[in-house]
Amino acid sequence: MRIFDPHIHMTSRTTDDYEAMRAAGVRALVEPSFWLGQPRTSPESFFDYFDSLLGWEPFRAAQYGIAHHCTLALNPKEANDPRCTPVLDELPRYLVKDSVVAVGEIGYDSMTPAEDHALAAQLQLAAEHELPALVHTPHRDKAAGLKRTIDVVRESNLPPEYVALDHLNETTVRDAADSGCWLGFSIYPDTKMDPPRMVKILQAHGTGRMLVNSAADWGRSDPLKTREVGDAMLAAGFTEDDVDQVLWRNPVAFYGQSGRLDLDSVAAEDTPATHEGNSILRGGE
Ligand SMILES: [Zn+2]
Repeated sequence: MRIFDPHIHMTSRTTDDYEAMRAAGVRALVEPSFWLGQPRTSPESFFDYFDSLLGWEPFRAAQYGIAHHCTLALNPKEANDPRCTPVLDELPRYLVKDSVVAVGEIGYDSMTPAEDHALAAQLQLAAEHELPALVHTPHRDKAAGLKRTIDVVRESNLPPEYVALDHLNETTVRDAADSGCWLGFSIYPDTKMDPPRMVKILQAHGTGRMLVNSAADWGRSDPLKTREVGDAMLAAGFTEDDVDQVLWRNPVAFYGQSGRLDLDSVAAEDTPATHEGNSILRGGE
């Protein structure tokens, strides 16, 4: 089983996770920029983080034979802090980088006017850079949040096939499917979606335009949830080709629209052992 996790925050994960993911079949992933839990107080703090998603983290992933790409944006939560909003002005110089395959995560957290502005501005940046957008849908008031998100996407210059609506569940999947956007599902250990519920959604709505991710981060989460979904699909009678479509070909098709996916140069043997002079070893050979 080959797996492409289209949404996972590896900065918050360990080398043990990389090793287990590789063993489970993960060969590629996309790391969206997001909120780090601790509020940031200046744009510069974002830029160091963006550089890390473009440099150090792909290097770390490559040590385990996993292709790493990222999505960059001002996240919805911090879009409400005027100390952070200047990030929007600097994003264009990051969106031209080779391994940036979408603008994201953008979307709504509390559905404030500041979030309205950041979402519309960043959908426009995606359109201008011919990049897809990864759009987070709110965890509270999900149905209303999704409807408002879809309205803003419709008003934007970005075609729906360039948009993934993420963190969907049974209450939002129908409206999301009708929008023409891609459908993202985050599989968590105890909240949101779990593998059996995900299988039921795939049975009801088919395997087209479906993206399954672990969204693993610094909170309670599990980077192997993608593999669990693949196993649950097979147990429920889906074919290996169905699993390959959902866990590999769909994310490749979605992020491939950026023209920047590079899935060939990740064999661990031919990646350098250091990044700017630093390795993942602790002084050992
Ligand atoms: Zn996320």
